[in-house]
Parts: sequence; C-alpha cells; structure tokens
Amino acid sequence: MIFKSLLPDVDVPDVDLPTFILSHLQNNTMYGKDPTLVAITDKTQSLTFGALKTQTEAFASGLHNKLGFRCGDILATVLPNTSFYPIVTMGTQMLGGTVTTANPAYTPRELAHQLKVTAAKAIVTSEPTLPAIKEALQLAQLAIPEINILTIDGRNNIREMLMSQPFPRVYLNTRRETESTPSFIVFSSGTSGAPKGVVLSHRNMVSNALQFLEADKNDKALVAASQHKRQRRWLHVLPMFHIYGILISNVSILTGSINFIMEKFNFPEYCSLIQKHSIDTLYIAPPIILALAKSPVTENYDLSSIVYINSGAAPLSKELQTEAQKKLGAFVTQGYGLSETSPFVSRSMCSAQKPGSAGQLCSNTEAMFVDESGKELGVGQVGELCLRGPQIMIGYHKNQQATDATIEANCFLHTGDIGYIDSTGHIYITDRKKELIKYKGFQIPPAELEGLLTDHPDVIDSAVIPVYDEARASELPKAFVVLRPGSNRSGIEKEISEWIDKRVVNYKRLRGGIEIIDAIPKSATGKILRRVLKGLEADR
Ligand code: AMP
Repeated sequence: MIFKSLLPDVDVPDVDLPTFILSHLQNNTMYGKDPTLVAITDKTQSLTFGALKTQTEAFASGLHNKLGFRCGDILATVLPNTSFYPIVTMGTQMLGGTVTTANPAYTPRELAHQLKVTAAKAIVTSEPTLPAIKEALQLAQLAIPEINILTIDGRNNIREMLMSQPFPRVYLNTRRETESTPSFIVFSSGTSGAPKGVVLSHRNMVSNALQFLEADKNDKALVAASQHKRQRRWLHVLPMFHIYGILISNVSILTGSINFIMEKFNFPEYCSLIQKHSIDTLYIAPPIILALAKSPVTENYDLSSIVYINSGAAPLSKELQTEAQKKLGAFVTQGYGLSETSPFVSRSMCSAQKPGSAGQLCSNTEAMFVDESGKELGVGQVGELCLRGPQIMIGYHKNQQATDATIEANCFLHTGDIGYIDSTGHIYITDRKKELIKYKGFQIPPAELEGLLTDHPDVIDSAVIPVYDEARASELPKAFVVLRPGSNRSGIEKEISEWIDKRVVNYKRLRGGIEIIDAIPKSATGKILRRVLKGLEADR
C-alpha cells in the first residue's frame, strides 16, 4: 500500500537553489523580509539579508575571476559552523558548481576519502584545519594549487575575494537542468559499506525547503505561537556540513529568521545564548533534548523564550519528548529524514502531537512499508520504509551499483529504517535494518571501523554493532574482535581502542567498548550476522 502525504502538494519551481533563496529576499514576497534585518550572526560578524546577498555574489565573482572556478566544478568546505557557510555554498552554486561539505574534525584519512571521491577543485577551510588538509591531499594523491585553498580566518582569506565584479552567473530554469545539476554532495554510508557521496540536485534542495515551509504553514499551533513575531530567533548548533544543518541554514534565511550560529557545543554556553538572545526556535538532536529536559544546569538560566524545538537525526523517545515539553513549556516535535532525502521526510505537528512518532509525511511525499520479500504492507504492519518524492537524491556519486541497490525502478528509495504507519498517518521508526550506527546524530559506518580494526596487527576479524545508552540518549559503537592466535591478551582492548582513536574523528570512537570473541557469527555467504551479536548484547 502506498501512503500519500496528507498535506497539500507544493509547486516546485524550475529554479536553482541560490536564485530560489535569494529571490525571496529580493522580492520580499513570501515571508515579508527586510534587507536591513540581520539574517545570520556568529562570534565574528553579523550579516543583514542585504549583505548576505551581495557577499554571496561577490564570493561567486572571486571564485570565477580569481580561481577560474567553472560550471561543473566541485568545491569542498571543511569548515566549522560559520556565517560564511551560506555565502560559500550559494556562491559556488551560482556558478553551476557543487559543494561537498566535510567535517573539519575529520582525520586526514577520513578527509582524503571525501576529497578523492569528489575530486574537489577548491577548498574553503579554516587555518587550524590546514595541516590535516595538506596531509589528506597527500594521502589522496590530489594536487590542489595553494591559491585554491581559501580560509575564513587566515591567509588566502575569502574576504579578499568579497568584491563584486561581474561574473557569468549560471541560471538553471528548466526542469531537466534543476533535476540533473548537483547542488550538494554530502556523505553517508547509506544502507551498507563506506561513506558515499550523496548527490542532491538543485530541485531536491528547493523542493525540500518548500516541503519544510509547507509543514510549518500547516502547523496551526506553531503559526499561532509565532505570528506576532517580526523575526523568529534561531540558535544553530547543528553541524553545517550535515544535511540537517544545511536545510536549517537555508530555511532560516527563507523564513526571514535571525540565525545565531554556535561553532562548538557546550551546554552551559548553549543555555546562556538562549537566554542572552531570547531564542525561540531550536533544531537539535535527542542528546541536547535530554540535557534540556534533565540537566540541573538549566536552572541557572531563563529559557522561557523557547517556543519551538524540533528533534531530528536520531530517534527521540516518547518519554523524553513528553518530559522536555513539560519542563520547557514549549512545543517539542520530532522530525525524520536522511541525507538521501535532502533530508526532510516527516515531522510531527505541534497541533496534533503523538509523542514518540516521527510525524506525518511532508508534502509531495509517498511512503511504502515492505517486508523482507518486498511485499507491500498495510497500516500498522512493521517493515522497511521506502520513500518517493522530489527530495530523493539523484544517486551516489560515481557509484551506480549502490544507487541501483537503493533506489528502485519505480523511484522508491530504500531507507534501511524499519517502522510502521498508523491510521492517522503518523510514522513510527522502530528499528534499523541498515548497518549504520548513530552517535548523537552523527553517522558511524560499522564497515569503516571493521576495516580499521582488521588492519590492527592483533585482530583477524571484527564486527561493530550499536548499543543504546539511556544516559546519553544515543547509540554507541561496540566492537567484537577475534584476536590472532598467540596475541597477548592483557590490556589488548585498551590498546586497540587507542589505536582506533588515532584514526577516526572523535564521535566514531568505540565508546560502547571492545569485547574479545572466538568467532564472528556469519551467514553461509560470509555476511556478519549482526542480529546475533545484538541478541547477545540484549540478553545481558
Ligand atoms: P543521516 O543521513 O545522517 O541524516 O542519517 C539518517 C538516519 O538517521 C535515518 O536513516 C535514520 O536511521 C536515523 N534517523 C533520523 N531521524 C530519525 C528519527 N526521528 N527517528 C529514528 N531514526 C532517525
């Protein structure tokens, strides 16, 4: 059975992403913006809507005239959260270029993978990340000229490029162009294996922003709670390299809100910023909801300005959602999505809450739940969630095989998530079929850790599974390892753990521990039987 969104469809215009975002500002149409209002602010600068537009155009001009960046080229951002993000991404896309967003905390090995897969022509980064980038380029055997490596805070500064000169702006204005031109390549491991480049078209991103705005527009309680405000005030802590952060940055501009950018998360500082700037809107992941609901730190701050919180990127339990709502006296909704869906798929409405549900489908979106054999399921029946809509990615970058394994010929994308839909159209995500582990909303591909573990001289086989930690409202990766016969066992877990720590970004560390096992359970075809290991864990 195919379930359709209950919300009205949106008309998706044939327009590229920067034109879509910036023309809303220029025409002052949909959301009544004023170019003199501040759009975005971080610890170094505040930019009005007008400045955002002129600086974006100036950046595009510099990129074209000074760096020779052209339509079809790829620019990598390796940036912390910064007000420069929308300038760099929209400026690149104005030239018909594509942005691939990397985590600045990546180790050189992780960065090398992304830079190599995308063959980026230019990089925008910050001074502290330069050494890791140099090492990554060596590992990837990529030669990017120094002049094409720009920083936001040091030499070869992007500010030097922020002077407007005419440049040949690329406009996409046919369905075919907007559908086939990539705007972003974000990284996700999908349903299995190593991180892959998720190619999102301009049409994907424009659709998803409109789907997001339509959900807001139809949420009567949210509209009522915000309509007296000239400008909503958002605090942005989501990583801007992640698709959730990218969407929120785009829609904060589209809704004419002011977006306060936080570079590094620290809970007392987070609370203090909410108080200082009278923040009313938060888009976050469950661990911050947990802290807001339970941490005694909140008692030192006045958080009464908060009107609306959305939790996404990982499951939010019914209990925690209800507790946070009660404690903060604010609406707490849950959203669901994935990199491959640009990312927004569903969210619960403030007006019709069903705590624990991942909400109702957004506009223009269809869902189908299927069992192991691919049979379509009905209301209340648990199976894999498959999705169709204008926000479904083009595919994985230069990886047709993975694309074909994920998107069916009928355009339904396999999410790898397990759940069901109830009679009111509320979706519940109950499990995950795909290998992915999520630590505080960040992706940890088990296959990547398993590959690294078996590179260790004392390990001959391994499997990594998620274990749930209530106290952190998050999954943690736990490794089962088989040691080489004759390996010295004393202190080996600690040694392996430290060995991994040196090779991965902080959030991929084996926080769930390491357990030595005689053999990894496998199917006849050699596939790791993760369910058996999960069962072993659950029985403890
Ligand atoms: P990412 O591509 O990093 O955004 O990760 C997407 C994955 O995060 C989804 O496929 C789900 O497994 C998980 N996820 C996101 N939102 C939710 C949610 N509300 N409930 C359960 N899982 C979620």
